[in-house]
Amino acid sequence: MEVRTRTHWQNTIKKYKVTPVKLFEPETLDDIVSIIREAESRKLKVRAVGTGHSFSDVAITHEYLVDLFRIDKVNRYDERVVKETFKEMKLVESGAGIRIRDLNRKLDTMGLALINMGGIDHQKLAGVISTGTHGTGKDIEAMQGFVQSIVLVAVGGAVYRIEKTNGITDPTKFNEAGTQLIQDDAIFYSAVLSFGSMGIIYSLVIEVRELYYLRETKLATNWKELKKKWLDGTIFTEGDTESAGEVPRSVSFLINPYALKNRKTGEPEHYCIVSRHYKASKPRKWFLIEETRNLISYIFGNFPVTYYYTILVFNLLPRRAPYLIRGSLKSLRDKKFVHKSYKVLFQAFQFIKERAYDAEFAFDLSHTPSLITAIENIITNAKEMKENARLYHSSPLGARFVKRSKAYLAVEYGRDIAYMDTPFLLRTRGTETMLELCQQIMFDKDGIPHWGKVNSILDGKEGFLAATYPKLGTWKMTLKKFNPNGTFNNHFMERNGLT
Ligand SMILES: Cc1cc2nc3c(=O)[nH]c(=O)nc-3n(C[C@H](O)[C@H](O)[C@H](O)COP(=O)(O)OP(=O)(O)OC[C@H]3O[C@@H](n4cnc5c(N)ncnc54)[C@H](O)[C@@H]3O)c2cc1C
Repeated sequence: MEVRTRTHWQNTIKKYKVTPVKLFEPETLDDIVSIIREAESRKLKVRAVGTGHSFSDVAITHEYLVDLFRIDKVNRYDERVVKETFKEMKLVESGAGIRIRDLNRKLDTMGLALINMGGIDHQKLAGVISTGTHGTGKDIEAMQGFVQSIVLVAVGGAVYRIEKTNGITDPTKFNEAGTQLIQDDAIFYSAVLSFGSMGIIYSLVIEVRELYYLRETKLATNWKELKKKWLDGTIFTEGDTESAGEVPRSVSFLINPYALKNRKTGEPEHYCIVSRHYKASKPRKWFLIEETRNLISYIFGNFPVTYYYTILVFNLLPRRAPYLIRGSLKSLRDKKFVHKSYKVLFQAFQFIKERAYDAEFAFDLSHTPSLITAIENIITNAKEMKENARLYHSSPLGARFVKRSKAYLAVEYGRDIAYMDTPFLLRTRGTETMLELCQQIMFDKDGIPHWGKVNSILDGKEGFLAATYPKLGTWKMTLKKFNPNGTFNNHFMERNGLT
């Protein structure tokens, strides 16, 4: 195992930079056990990190930091120990430190695929699960929804395999020496989404499916039309000529917060793009050429120069912001992109996205009007800030959908949700002020902040968490079991009253 001292670690947006006492790069389960024991003996805090794609301070500690990138093996979960009732399920066990991109590639070689994923693939598996990373689809759960078994190393270096009460592993066949099998819903649904606070996750068994294809359409509309279809529900059911009546698997959309004149009608409108994913079969391949999204968005999304050009224009000519946003939305239009599921679920623009950050709040889908009011309040605020302070949004607003989860601290616990996203490019003028305002607007409309995104509005709002998460008490009891002395605590947990 590599151990570094006098080294730095920072999250992708470089907002949180730490010089930990030690940065460990374990290779085995025993390495993790020894790290935790050493931390305890020296009364130091210890925390695992993923790739630092969280914008909040969720992953930060100044003491012992553990990066599991060397723990990245993927195998079918041992069928011999799986209960008869789960034999049909496709189960793989993966090292916690694997990046989603590498996991996708590995699964592909096994003829398998993730059921869902977030919009990019640079994060690590345990990282995405620990903050509830989501993709889109009101009938599809976020990443933690596919976890069936977790190997967790907690205080004293004790190793647990944690599963649901009716877990996949047959206790009579369980044969992992030195590991205690716990099959208990309360413990599983607490630990599965616990941002590193209950110990270090070594591996996860996730349910996957056979390799599959998706077809994506990205079509233009405007906010007035979109809102109408959202309110009457057709946004979720509408197909196109190719879908032959089939309902899309998932929908998401992007909205220009600024109204601009439509060139054909002359009417001001908020330009929008609606993305839909449909089931598809394997396309016929062009000779040696892999299918890509439309060429303009491919170029715009993959070359750093477009990012630096955009930053320059935003800062030198901020009044162009509404036009730049509309231009970037137009570049996304695409009648058809068919590919393997993980290439379609990957929403591209990784270079730009890793140089942006956002506040993202969840809204109960059964109260769609409060989300619509939040969107319209953000639009009104964008207009006021433009006129009064010459501050601008630098990206479109986004909305995605997620099916309810049983994980106690998932923002979608017990409710289907829509996530509302307000991204800003780093280094554009006024970003912090605008993000504060967006957080306040969404919070005032009962939005619940994503754990891994900007969520400073939660500071000092312990009452909010207790009112929002009905199982917080049970979660805290589980925390006490695995982390009785605060070994895995950090400032994020303290400021949220989670210790
Ligand atoms: C460009 C970009 C795009 C994004 N897109 C989406 C999106 O589409 N949907 C979405 O929901 N979110 C999205 N996010 C947010 C991001 O997916 C989450 O914040 C995610 O947690 C980051 O994963 P990570 O591997 O970087 O983990 P980190 O940010 O490094 O850590 C996240 C948490 O996981 C814990 N952790 C990591 N590894 C372990 C382990 N082995 N054991 C125990 N705890 C561990 C850490 O302690 C920390 O609390 C995006 C972020 C960026 C920068």
